[in-house]
Amino acid sequence: MQIGVLALQGAFIEHEQMLSQISVDSFEIRRKRDLDKPFDGLIIPGGESTVQGKLLRELELFEPLKERIIAGMPVFGTCAGLLLLAKKIENDDRVHFGAMDITAVRNAYGRQLGSFYTQAEFKGIGKIPMTFIRAPYIESVYGSTNVLASVDGKIVAAREGNMLVTAFHPELNEDLSVHKYFAEMVSAAKNGYKA
Ligand code: GLN
Repeated sequence: MQIGVLALQGAFIEHEQMLSQISVDSFEIRRKRDLDKPFDGLIIPGGESTVQGKLLRELELFEPLKERIIAGMPVFGTCAGLLLLAKKIENDDRVHFGAMDITAVRNAYGRQLGSFYTQAEFKGIGKIPMTFIRAPYIESVYGSTNVLASVDGKIVAAREGNMLVTAFHPELNEDLSVHKYFAEMVSAAKNGYKA
């Protein structure tokens, strides 16, 4: 199994470290020719969704990655990655990949609560640590999207088919369970998916 980690901006190295701890190979996607290498899943890290969205387009990575996501390649978006996958961002006119049936709210916790740590239940895993940094939350899910975790009544993790998103940063804690969950999604899809 090979996972491509979008490495334009933000917390991508931490994802690579998590994957290596669960013995999953990964490589960085920085430019178009990196897409020539075969990969079975994609991680879109936290950072700034506007910056990543702009770089994706400028580097001509946007369309080929969107095609793969729509075709069913497993993708895991954390924080800014969640915003890039959302069909709608309540307080931002921009739509990026627009692939997932969720409405997100950007910088949703305001300045004071912009960054915080908590522990909460993640469906199918149990209680896990969650670190939020100027995080979005998911205001609503629709279609076939399932809620996987909520904190204080706000949805912070969801899955729709091949797409997994978390408003928090599992790569910033030691708990490997969300990366294992994603690796299982990738291995389940591996035989069925053709790029
Ligand atoms: N606030 C960022 C955005 O709007 C997301 C923050 C993060 O990824 N840690 O894109």
